[in-house]
Amino acid sequence: MTIRGKEARKLAGVLVARRLGQRILDLVFPARCVGCGASGAFLCPACRLALPPAAPPRCARCWRPWRDSGPCAECRLSPPPFDGLRAAFVYRGVAQELVRALKYRGTTALAPAMASLMAETARQERLPVDVVVPVPLSGLRRRTRGYNQAEALAGALGGELGLPVRPRALQRRRHTPPQARSADADERRRNVAGAFRVRDGEVAGLRVLLVDDVTTTGATLAACAQALKEAGVPSVWGLAFARED
Ligand SMILES: [Zn+2]
Ligand SMILES: [Zn+2]
Repeated sequence: MTIRGKEARKLAGVLVARRLGQRILDLVFPARCVGCGASGAFLCPACRLALPPAAPPRCARCWRPWRDSGPCAECRLSPPPFDGLRAAFVYRGVAQELVRALKYRGTTALAPAMASLMAETARQERLPVDVVVPVPLSGLRRRTRGYNQAEALAGALGGELGLPVRPRALQRRRHTPPQARSADADERRRNVAGAFRVRDGEVAGLRVLLVDDVTTTGATLAACAQALKEAGVPSVWGLAFARED
């Protein structure tokens, strides 16, 4: 047999092994749609279409449903520290399933798919940003869960938008309890006020895109934005995958 033939056989062998490897992976970890369970992908085309978009009319600043695109009553009364907040979807249905799967089942394979949907929103809204920063988990929660879902989204989003990611620009000062669903907006703000600090030099002079998986009142994003602004960051936009209306 010629050298060429040998090489071709070796290459064919590698390809077969690779295909077999992929098939075994698919058998062990079959990609199933988070919405309907159909096999083949983590989000099937039908469930992708069923995602509830966070469509206008919404407050231009905080993105809560509002009668027009002007600032809502709350933003007029006390403007939030961020320049604006956007969310791709409303936190229900398939959008809720995706956020839960990313957070509690540790399906980091979902982050690229979710980030590409967030990138569409960032482009549509022409968010003026230079760098991507995730909302940090407390050290305690990170240790128990193993990874930060906001960081997984931020990493993939940076790739989508061609922007640098600074996962450690923000740090939690102390452990804050998970936000209770019953807490009102004021209570949530009090719980997270002063909870974050900015690492020197990480984002100095850059326009920041703050990333979280889900936002309710925007209190956590506001506390992060406050810390960034106090550290001299010129502009802060928040972007969440989903928003609780
Ligand atoms: Zn599906
Ligand atoms: Zn508002």
